[in-house]
Amino acid sequence: MPNEANDPLIQPEVIPLHAAAPDPILLADPATLFLERARRYDTFVARADGQQAFFGFMAHLSRAQHAAASTFAPRVLPDVATLSMRHAHHMPILPAGLAERDASWVVALRAVLTASSAADADGLPPAIVAARHTLAATSEDELDRLGSALLAFDYETIPADVVPWIAAGLQVYWVVAVAALGRDAVQSLDVASVCPCCGSLPVASLRRIGGMQQGLRFLVCSLCATQWHMVRIKCSHCESTAGIGYLTLSTDPDSEVGKAAATREVVKAEICDQCSSYLKLVSLEADAAADPVADDLATLALDLLTDERGYARVGPNLFIHPGLPAA
Ligand SMILES: [Zn+2]
Ligand SMILES: [Zn+2]
Repeated sequence: MPNEANDPLIQPEVIPLHAAAPDPILLADPATLFLERARRYDTFVARADGQQAFFGFMAHLSRAQHAAASTFAPRVLPDVATLSMRHAHHMPILPAGLAERDASWVVALRAVLTASSAADADGLPPAIVAARHTLAATSEDELDRLGSALLAFDYETIPADVVPWIAAGLQVYWVVAVAALGRDAVQSLDVASVCPCCGSLPVASLRRIGGMQQGLRFLVCSLCATQWHMVRIKCSHCESTAGIGYLTLSTDPDSEVGKAAATREVVKAEICDQCSSYLKLVSLEADAAADPVADDLATLALDLLTDERGYARVGPNLFIHPGLPAA
């Protein structure tokens, strides 16, 4: 009589407990994020296309963020009970919109201002430097108010020249705080269109390369830079999979030649005819050094083109004051 325990035909199928699958949530690394972004801005400066002053400032600001991120530590992080409550309510772990925000984000902002002051600042726009001096002498309460206004996109109450500084400080706080909480503290949300860590909208989406994420599309948080997976050819706003198209700057998307060339484009606008919105798609396959925030700022002409065609942008770039003309 055969030993049934050893008969493979009647044994249950062995399913690995941890089947290999790409992690759908990737946290930003504060040690490299801002430095790599600064290097991306450097390449835009080198193009010498008339926007050197703007991208030179953005490179300087990213390096100040890098310096601040290397020393800053949040004063208060949510404890286990708070995290459990947020998980139970399908909330982000560190919501940007929360009234009782950790006021120590202002410390991150001051670290950015200090790092900027200490660096060689030749060629920075005078108005931007003046705004930095003003902010350095501004009270903690007022800085916190400016942070709240930016997170609420209440641009009427924020002078345009302070926006980049405030945005830089907020990003440093959220990137460092989310990294301190760690990947295990984060869970996917029911709502796929907002960041699982802070609840913010994406600045752009990214077609990734390398490892298990090869070729997959991730949305990139405008605030904490967390990346979360969303299948391709799906509207990141209304989640429709019908009526999705692509616009690019250098090609006519209505022609066959244009469609072929568009696949090599670093940045294109993914447009949705269901909700008339768009989000840019940045391809690391086309350029491995591309950065969602920097490459977005380098393609503001694409926003104008998309706007002309009647599509509204979904996610913010915190460094853009909408009341100002494109740089
Ligand atoms: Zn986020
Ligand atoms: Zn849509």
